[in-house]
Amino acid sequence: MSKLFENAVVSIQLGVEDYQANDPRRAISAVRNFYAGVLLLAKETLVRAVPNADLSDLIGAKYKPVPDGSGGVDFVQDGNSTIDFVTIGRRFKDFGLSIDQKALEELNRIRNDVEHLYTQKPGEAVREAIANAFPVVVQLFEHMGEAPGVHLGDAWPVMLEAKALYEKELKSCRDSLSHVDWISGTIAKDGLICPVCESKLVRQLDTDNTQQSNMDLVCRACGEEPTVEAAIESSLTEALRGEVYVRLKDAGEDGPQYHCRECDNETYVDFEGACAVCGHEYGEEDCDRCGASIPLQDIIDGEHSGLCGYCSYQYDKLMRE
Ligand SMILES: [Zn+2]
Ligand SMILES: [Zn+2]
Ligand SMILES: [Zn+2]
Repeated sequence: MSKLFENAVVSIQLGVEDYQANDPRRAISAVRNFYAGVLLLAKETLVRAVPNADLSDLIGAKYKPVPDGSGGVDFVQDGNSTIDFVTIGRRFKDFGLSIDQKALEELNRIRNDVEHLYTQKPGEAVREAIANAFPVVVQLFEHMGEAPGVHLGDAWPVMLEAKALYEKELKSCRDSLSHVDWISGTIAKDGLICPVCESKLVRQLDTDNTQQSNMDLVCRACGEEPTVEAAIESSLTEALRGEVYVRLKDAGEDGPQYHCRECDNETYVDFEGACAVCGHEYGEEDCDRCGASIPLQDIIDGEHSGLCGYCSYQYDKLMRE
């Protein structure tokens, strides 16, 4: 058994012990240990895929070219930072190993936010953190051709139970929202998250209520009672994170989430053509001067209604002369 694999297993086991202690003071260490273990496990999976490679080459985050002394270049590690969940996800892709990229992104977010997220009501929140990592752990063991139960020992049934309890709780929360008549299809599909601790365990008190604006919400992980607006705003931001990134990176475009001036929330979704909180629709407009269709951002906060950004600028210039 390699040292790396051993460390991975021990770290996961320590995290599970911290979770079992059900002590608020050990919540942060539970998530830290558990996630450190998962990351080590991911590194071990890479090592096993290319057993002849040097470990530090595999897990370095950045590389730079240096002259190799004979007219060419070698690539060497740039700095000491090693890969996080997101970069390791990309490396898995490059290696042709399947892994749940979205789950990895979530783990990275949770890990970077540990101090902030796991201080209030840790039992439920830590369970959720373990449940979120569960599919990744299973995939990693599969890639290595190992059985998790054999290596993780007593920690494995605890993880299974944590996952089952969490799913049951999540289902009951989602059921409480199932009759709501949502304005946004994105929210209807992805559900709500807590604006304070980002848990998915948000439920409404009156399970028969169908009106979005009338919901009384409570977070089962941290105890917060968020407003409907805050919950929808956070949930949209989380659900559309990937789309925002793709638009910005691939096309330099803004959206799909915009500020709604009617209700003053960041809850306008362009492809839904409406605000997820108040339902306001900005519609489509062509510029009165040049006939081009006006970008949504200009419709929302343009100085002159009916004019595109360019014509608006020309108009102002003309007025100053
Ligand atoms: Zn919460
Ligand atoms: Zn609105
Ligand atoms: Zn125009």
